[in-house]
This record gives sequence, structure tokens and C-alpha cells, in this order.
Amino acid sequence: MGTVYLIHFGRKYKHARHYIGWTGKRKLDERITAHRENRGARLLAVVNAAGIPWEVVRVWTKVTREFERKLKKRKCSRRYCPHCKREATG
Ligand SMILES: [Zn+2]
Repeated sequence: MGTVYLIHFGRKYKHARHYIGWTGKRKLDERITAHRENRGARLLAVVNAAGIPWEVVRVWTKVTREFERKLKKRKCSRRYCPHCKREATG
């Protein structure tokens, strides 16, 4: 069991607007710090390099890695993102 988190980018990076990540033993805030310091995920490192601000907008706790894979496969992060939902509905 672990935690899945959804990161929303302030601006699009190429076609990406979100990042979905999973963390098991490590605490979420440690994982986020790693992303801020360009350790952990290539996508977030390039997003940082591009000067794009981002934030964690949603967290699912006590979920499995399988849940993360399902979310990624659906490719509809927008539906789960409170920011994008707001934009879509006005
Ligand atoms: Zn979003």
C-alpha cells in the first residue's frame, strides 16, 4: 500500500499538464521535496528547468501501485484534477 498523488502544472509542458506519482515507504512530503530538487522524476525535472510552477492537487492514500497504473492508463488526469475541473465547468 502507498500513496498516489496528482501534480498539476501551472503551464503545459509539451502535451503534459499533470504528473501522477506513487510513493510507498517514503512519505509524500519527502517525495515532493525530491521532485522540487529534481530527484525522482524526469518529467518534473524538465518542468522545473522550464520554470513552470506546479503543485500537488490531489492525493489518494492507502492505495496500491496497481491503482496508479490504472489512473495513468486512463489518460484523463483532468477529470481528477480540481484545477482543471474548475476550468472545464467555468
Ligand atoms: Zn489540472
